[in-house]
Amino acid sequence: MKNIILFGAPGAGKGTLIELLGDKGFQFSLVNPGQMLRDITKEDSEFGRKIKETMARGELVDDFLVTELVKKKIRELEKGKPIIFDGYPRSLGQVEIVDEIFTEAGFDLPYLVFVKISKEEAVKRLSARRVCSECKENFQDFEMEDPEKCPKCGGKIIQREDDKPIVIEERFEIFNLQFKIIDHYFKSRDRYFEIDGTIPKEERVEELIEIIKS
Ligand code: AMP
Repeated sequence: MKNIILFGAPGAGKGTLIELLGDKGFQFSLVNPGQMLRDITKEDSEFGRKIKETMARGELVDDFLVTELVKKKIRELEKGKPIIFDGYPRSLGQVEIVDEIFTEAGFDLPYLVFVKISKEEAVKRLSARRVCSECKENFQDFEMEDPEKCPKCGGKIIQREDDKPIVIEERFEIFNLQFKIIDHYFKSRDRYFEIDGTIPKEERVEELIEIIKS
């Protein structure tokens, strides 16, 4: 089985794919630095507040910090399950070190899976995205009966700071820079796959499973 770096523009539906994989009972280990960072921002500390501000602006958090978090996490993972990285690497510094992180932890080198989607579609999805502050489930605002209450657990529904329109633009600019670096690195090493982010999600998840198993 292949280890995967799931990559795509904000709103490409990486989170949905990962959720569907879980629902299908597919066994994998997830490394999601965005979520790890969001957990840190809940701490009542100067450090937590600084990270929260950076994330709210849609900017990248310090490379060294994120890399340390990812290294620590991968060391804890059990062998034998495919690993999915969601949100790492995202900068040149991270691309340069990602293979080493897998090798050092005793895992096979990862393949990039690029979930392709147009900017227009991504912006549409992100602007409508709402998240439950309790169970973290994502929803689209137009599918919700009560815009404030989670239909799954009753938790409070929020809009992520970085899903606000000005920040979405900033995130796209950052994404375009990341894309060039990451795309080139994995294509030139022949470790590259693409999934069409606009086909039905059931089909997308099947394609992802095929890639991981291939
Ligand atoms: P995500 O949930 O993956 O969209 O990440 C949310 C935010 O967390 C990003 O906009 C960044 O501020 C931060 N973040 C996540 N992953 C990284 C990373 N690999 N490097 C730096 N910052 C990150």
